[in-house]
Amino acid sequence: MKLAVYGKGGIGKSTTSCNISIALAKRGKKVLQIGCDPKHDSTFTLTGFLIPTIIDTLSAKDYHYEDIWPEDVIYGGYGGVDCVEAGGPPAGAGCGGYVVGETVKLLKELNAFFEYDIILFDVLGDVVCGGFAAPLNYADYCIIVTDNGFDALFAANRIAASVREKARTHPLRLAGLIGNRTSKRDLIDKYVEACPMPVLEVLPLIEEIRISRVKGKTLFEMSTFSPTIDSTEINCNATCVDITTNTKIKNNLAEINQNNYICNFYLNIADQLLTEPEGVIPRELSDKELFTLLSDFYLKV
Ligand code: ADP
Ligand code: MG
Repeated sequence: MKLAVYGKGGIGKSTTSCNISIALAKRGKKVLQIGCDPKHDSTFTLTGFLIPTIIDTLSAKDYHYEDIWPEDVIYGGYGGVDCVEAGGPPAGAGCGGYVVGETVKLLKELNAFFEYDIILFDVLGDVVCGGFAAPLNYADYCIIVTDNGFDALFAANRIAASVREKARTHPLRLAGLIGNRTSKRDLIDKYVEACPMPVLEVLPLIEEIRISRVKGKTLFEMSTFSPTIDSTEINCNATCVDITTNTKIKNNLAEINQNNYICNFYLNIADQLLTEPEGVIPRELSDKELFTLLSDFYLKV
């Protein structure tokens, strides 16, 4: 199954992608995540570093595909998720679609493209020009990350239009929206009422997610037990002498429980995708309809 995750810049696509990839791997799937954003930080929390991009590797080898080995471009990430960064075209020149095309071509040459149960493309989605819509050519499902605000929903509506367009010639469906950094979902609900599509999950703003980015780890990794905590210490009761240590352990446990709770959001999304949902071919709103919907909404609040 091929998934393409889209959404406005900075909305949380890479965060969501990495955690969904691990959730799918936890369900026994062999997963490859391909970062298709020139920012090339899609897989950062999976590997803990910025891996070399396909385009940089190709240009270093003068585009001699036969000189490139899988280990030059595919890096193992947390939870067994394999990671690739497509990279970007030179700033102000070239096309993102070309980069995605070269990436898929190379992965096919390396016999890697058909080796995975799931390939997840994490794609920049502010401007859905033909180039950045390229991953939709390969995808079974598009997933859109949004928040409860105008800009992200405007981008979502443009992405929905691209899905409708591509679905004319490809077996592509929109699996649905994921609300991110969103405690209220009233505007999202208004949008999906006017442009029907599933809402797979809604995640609030979570401090641990911000921290996970800084630490270069996913929530799943942060929710595993810290090896420095001795399990005998965890059973410490009130008779423990070292109150400071006890408090620290309790705090660690609270943090781990909180992270587990958040991981469940991503496991829920993975489980929905694994049922191969019907999805929708959306009928996007016109810009005028979208503006009217939003201004009506804001005026009534
Ligand atoms: P994108 O890939 O869409 O550009 P990122 O996934 O890199 O966005 O997220 C941008 C920033 O927002 C990162 O620092 C990330 O840790 C943070 N972030 C993403 N989702 C959440 C969330 N639900 N709560 C708090 N911070 C978040
Ligand atoms: Mg990103």
